[in-house]
Amino acid sequence: MNKHNWLLWLTAFAIAGFSAPMVWASEYRIENVKGDVYRFIDDRHRSLFLVTDEGILITDPLNESAAKWLKAELKKRFDVPVRYVVYSHNHSDHIYGAEVFDSSETTFVAHRLAKQDIQNTGANTVVPDMTFDNSMDISLGEHTVELRYHGPNDGRGSISMLFQPEKLLFVVDWVVVGRMPWQKLWSYDIQGVINSTRDVLDLDFEVFVGGHADIGDKADVRRYLSYMEELYAAVIDGIHAGKNLEEMKQSITLDNYSDFKQYDEWLPLNIEGVHERLMEESGMSWRPGL
Ligand SMILES: [Zn+2]
Repeated sequence: MNKHNWLLWLTAFAIAGFSAPMVWASEYRIENVKGDVYRFIDDRHRSLFLVTDEGILITDPLNESAAKWLKAELKKRFDVPVRYVVYSHNHSDHIYGAEVFDSSETTFVAHRLAKQDIQNTGANTVVPDMTFDNSMDISLGEHTVELRYHGPNDGRGSISMLFQPEKLLFVVDWVVVGRMPWQKLWSYDIQGVINSTRDVLDLDFEVFVGGHADIGDKADVRRYLSYMEELYAAVIDGIHAGKNLEEMKQSITLDNYSDFKQYDEWLPLNIEGVHERLMEESGMSWRPGL
């Protein structure tokens, strides 16, 4: 090999070997949360994975490109097989890309209603091969991941996952800490979200990780619940008082929560979302006397 060819080869190696992962690295991130549980971040989306001597359990794969990056990182950092992929719910922005992990040694787990929706709508991801109705425990190494269904809240078959012994709770979309819930509370069953959040507060957890926004603790989840309860009650009161949506956007301020990110931008949208849901799902728009 002459000097010129050697340089060309070196350049090609540099592009193939270093450039691509560097582009990836700026998009995706892995951080240790507690014990053997790690958070995987793709822009606004987050998922968790657990590493044990007996293998890895991952939660939402997020999307194909994120899943490919994660798979390569898991191989590089830990080099144990991925034993489980557990879907938080049915929404494609969280559970696409699972085919990247499809193998005979990996079991795909979801709530029965999430699987039903994935099948019926022809979602382009792996159809779960293990489902449950109320709760299911997965043991891996010295760890247990407790999966629970708390009734309807957001999407179909959306569950909580409690990692033990870390006492770490993971919920996607229907509990958000450090930030306002998303815009017009797209796809929220509001009373269901409140009921499910009350339910998880009875669980023994110390750390909370959401599918979006920040990491928090039990007090943060309690505060999110208070926000949702106060928002819901304020809009119901407004409708009973004969106020229209624009008047409510002016009068409902919920100042106690002004430290939540996106408070100014999304409070009017949150109010609109609750109003829309009450008018349609609770039928307040065609109720005599309102
Ligand atoms: Zn989401």
